[in-house]
Amino acid sequence: MKKKSFKGISTVTLHTASTENDNFSHTTPIYATSTFTFGSTDEGMERFKSADKTRIYTRWGNPTFTAAEETIAALESFGLKDEKGEPLALKALLHASGQAAMTTLFLSTLSAGDTLLSHYSLYGGTQELMQKLLLEAGIKCILIDVRDSALLEKTIQENSNIKLIHLETPANPTLQCVDIKAISTIAHQHGIRVSVDNTVATPYLQQPFALGADFVFHSATKFLNGHGSALHGVLLGKDLEFMNSKVWKWHALLGGNSNAFDAYLLIQGMKTLEIRMDRHCSNTKKVAEFLNTHPAVEKVNYTGLTSHPDHAIACKQMKNHAPLMSFELKGGLDAGKKFIDALEVCTRAVSLGTVDTLVSHPASMTHYGIPHAERIKYGITDGLIRMSVGIENYEDLEADLAQALSKI
Ligand SMILES: *Cc1c(COP(=O)(O)O)cnc(C)c1O
Repeated sequence: MKKKSFKGISTVTLHTASTENDNFSHTTPIYATSTFTFGSTDEGMERFKSADKTRIYTRWGNPTFTAAEETIAALESFGLKDEKGEPLALKALLHASGQAAMTTLFLSTLSAGDTLLSHYSLYGGTQELMQKLLLEAGIKCILIDVRDSALLEKTIQENSNIKLIHLETPANPTLQCVDIKAISTIAHQHGIRVSVDNTVATPYLQQPFALGADFVFHSATKFLNGHGSALHGVLLGKDLEFMNSKVWKWHALLGGNSNAFDAYLLIQGMKTLEIRMDRHCSNTKKVAEFLNTHPAVEKVNYTGLTSHPDHAIACKQMKNHAPLMSFELKGGLDAGKKFIDALEVCTRAVSLGTVDTLVSHPASMTHYGIPHAERIKYGITDGLIRMSVGIENYEDLEADLAQALSKI
């Protein structure tokens, strides 16, 4: 990794990964190998003893993964300092998917008998993992509205086994935002660690480590990759000793490692993160404003609108509003289905953060596994439509939305 400090994040994404390799390849080579050779037994022994476990066996690490990990660590620590005033050092671990990284996060920070506390608006997979699988492993999970600081304090007082507070902000698909700094301050007073799912904002818009987070999680499948070409997850931490020992051990032995080709796709995708995000953000603002004044639309959830309940906190902790929105049509589920089916430019698909606009229906797709009553409580109504706004020319998006809305 180049030790230079850069002034902007496009330079970070273009120039962090090392370009050193035997054959002078300009792009990061794809090290498609399960294992690495030793020139001698002594050399093998040295590599096993070293803190750097990247050139032994690919489940433990791989140089293509390292290039992606160092780039993401540089993005999340961009411009930040540690307590000693030194540039913040982070350890990033690349995984096969966001869910694999989240499994490593939860299993390395929680044991049977411990409790996990989280906000109630979450990505569907995260919520199922917490409420079903972790429960089977003896880890209890409490979901509350963590924006209510009195309730947060009370819950912490009443549950002495809370070891981790996991925040997803903005949350997918309600765009609810929680105050990372305020919650981290309360958590740390009680010796509780805080992890933040930064998937929707990306490090370009929000840096949770600057706000007190101990861990940052990404489904790099989304905006970091940007092209919908592979799944990846990243777990980052600032306690390097803990990351290199316990967290690394869980990661290496659970076996949720990435692969060199996907890591390469991620490195290539991240090179355009800043310019993609700028276009995603400006298009989303225009789409939200267009829908918000359309007579067929009941409600738009986008943190850039002053009507969003978490507008103020979004403005406080993010550089710009995240390019994800959801909305409800006055005609409910029926109108929603007709609208989605009539789209000609936008892509009908789940997931988010790709260069093209993706439209999905959470109640029947991503959040299908969450019981109906609970879904409604969390803001995922039957007619809610989610849009991850792409980088198309805005005129084409507006024309497509207008024609689809005229058909409901
Ligand atoms: C997609 C997503 C995940 C899960 O990541 P995968 O890469 O699909 O495993 C977790 N959190 C959020 C906010 C997501 O959007």
